[in-house]
Amino acid sequence: MNNAKTILTGDRPTGQLHLGHFAGSLRQRVALQHDNQQYILIADLQGLTDNGNSPQKVAGNIPEVMADYLAVGIDPTKTVVCLQSALPALAELTLLYMNIVTVARVERNPTVKSEITQKGFSRSLPVGFMTYPISQAADITAFQADLIPVGDDQLPMIEQTNEIVHKMNSLTGQPLLRHCQALLSKTGRLPGIDGKAKMSKSLGNTLTLSASEEDIHQAVCAMYTDPNHLRVNDPGQVDGNVVFSYLDAFHPDAEKVSAMKAHYLRGGLGDRACKDELEGCLQALLAPIRSRRNAFIQDKGQLLALLRHGSEQAQNVTQQTLVQVKRGLGLPVM
Ligand code: ATP
Ligand code: MG
Repeated sequence: MNNAKTILTGDRPTGQLHLGHFAGSLRQRVALQHDNQQYILIADLQGLTDNGNSPQKVAGNIPEVMADYLAVGIDPTKTVVCLQSALPALAELTLLYMNIVTVARVERNPTVKSEITQKGFSRSLPVGFMTYPISQAADITAFQADLIPVGDDQLPMIEQTNEIVHKMNSLTGQPLLRHCQALLSKTGRLPGIDGKAKMSKSLGNTLTLSASEEDIHQAVCAMYTDPNHLRVNDPGQVDGNVVFSYLDAFHPDAEKVSAMKAHYLRGGLGDRACKDELEGCLQALLAPIRSRRNAFIQDKGQLLALLRHGSEQAQNVTQQTLVQVKRGLGLPVM
């Protein structure tokens, strides 16, 4: 583990994980777990920030997300999978950091801004939602993570985290907290199956990892292509064509996809053929994941036991960071 990094990522248990998670983050985590110290946080407290009135939804999705992890190949003997609400140091660090971040700075976060619009909040915006980037900074720094494999919607969070690290380190006069770096996959942002915004649980435009053969078939059939590509022989557009975005993200043979793009651009390749190719590749990708997931989800007790074990492992490291920060600030550690 010479160049081993400490990695932290996580997901909100607000629904089952989907192809966006797989392309943006999950498959990197599976690859990275062998040579790095990797932590994955099921961020239930962050899930509550826009689901305060439906805590049962968040709680119910904790084992679902755990089953998704195991199904894609996250190995709990290599990766520590833990639960945010089981780690009190994260909440305490959040409170400490809240005092060094201004309201103006939080309001400037572009991801938070667009989520507020998307979710239709105005004066009904929960305080917790507004401040979730601060709690995310607490999560990242508590683990002293230096590498964060995420989708590109998370870049503003990483930037804000590094600002907090800088501020805290200068305040305490010691390099207590570690700066972190995002690791973007080649698919920074997978569009939803409707082709509009990014695929996201709360937008209802997902294909989950447990999608049935029929769900996959329907989603691909309905997928947006190039509206001006009326006849097979017409030249078509690849940019903004969701079928090609998905082929880029999931097809194992990049050369074949490039040849298909060239053919589509000059005309002569029909939408049907492109969709058939995509459907074949998604069915092959998801079939084994779906069957493993179906087996894991049968035993929720076992899934929660694995999560409890990971959370116990994470308690030490996060508590240690909290103690260092408190000491750095001159607060008595009792
Ligand atoms: P919610 O709608 O509840 O916010 P979500 O679908 O956006 O859910 P998150 O739990 O917020 O999912 O995201 C977890 C991780 O997955 C983040 O690193 C995020 O960047 C990545 N991710 C989520 N959706 C996509 C996507 N469509 N493309 C690429 N990465 C994604
Ligand atoms: Mg999100």
